Amino acid sequence: MTRQAGLILKAVNLRKQFKLTSPIAKGALLTAVDEVSLDLVKGETLGIAGESGCGKSTLGKILAGLLQPDHGEVQYHGSPLGSLSQKDFRIFRRTTQMIFQDPFSSLNPRMRIGDIISEPLTISGSSLPDKRRTVATLMETVGLNPELAQRFPDEFSGGQRQRIGIARALAASPQILIADEPVSSLDISIQAQIINLLQEMKRNFDLSLIMISHNLSVLRHMCDRVIIMYLGIIVEDAPAIDLFRQCQHPYTEALIAAIPKIGANPRNHAVILTDDLPSPLDIPSGCRFHPRCRYAAEICKQTPPPLTERAHGHASACHLATTIFPQIQTCA
Ligand code: SF4
Repeated sequence: MTRQAGLILKAVNLRKQFKLTSPIAKGALLTAVDEVSLDLVKGETLGIAGESGCGKSTLGKILAGLLQPDHGEVQYHGSPLGSLSQKDFRIFRRTTQMIFQDPFSSLNPRMRIGDIISEPLTISGSSLPDKRRTVATLMETVGLNPELAQRFPDEFSGGQRQRIGIARALAASPQILIADEPVSSLDISIQAQIINLLQEMKRNFDLSLIMISHNLSVLRHMCDRVIIMYLGIIVEDAPAIDLFRQCQHPYTEALIAAIPKIGANPRNHAVILTDDLPSPLDIPSGCRFHPRCRYAAEICKQTPPPLTERAHGHASACHLATTIFPQIQTCA
């Protein structure tokens, strides 16, 4: 099957700006996502990476239909979301579920967890016995004792609450899961359990998964493809194996160098970024990365580099990619 034939979700030229309301920047326009295009194939795990503030969470919400883009469109099975009937949009919203970063605030503290997990079943009109049966099965599936269904969220640990969030998402019989930093607020010892659970659920329920994370080692472990975002745009898009073996953008190079295990090479210390991401309210001219790029040349300050495919399925946005990274081939 070609990639085109297996497409389940596609984003074309997405743009999203927010008008700020805080007293110091009142009325200023923040561009969170700028001309972003991507696609997701059935059964694929797509990673979206970048520092905090690069626009990846906003992008996730647009892909899930929770935010409207100002420009561009999301297509679900080839149909733009804007063209779907109310009924079909409801189906899209049910079959595209989000798992949020903070399991503490994403669950209603006044609801029992059995009711939280069964919410999608209530909406679809399931009977009470069916709901009870499904909740018990889902709780077991995600490693929770079904006897705890009458308890409230504050009686559970962070890892258990993330399991509740995953069970609730699965109750909707999703095709796509969008997990936004699902382990970043959890104890390091729990993170691997939740990542393994997500992978197991993806396999068992035949899901497509979008993993949003600033943690490249998590994405390396889980993803088929990875997109690197910087100040609202995609700077690199590649199969995971190619990205980690032979990245084609200095920003990706810096992120990879900062991964403790891979980056434990004295040569890589020069690459690691130590300064902060510039403000999205004051996006640099030309290549957005140029103020932090150790390779920047004159052209980089003036002309934005286009996202260009350098090998099959591997694209980067860097004027000097062929000089800095002369080696490239498709690994997979
Ligand atoms: Fe660095 Fe220039 Fe490439 Fe931007 S275009 S990443 S500044 S070398």
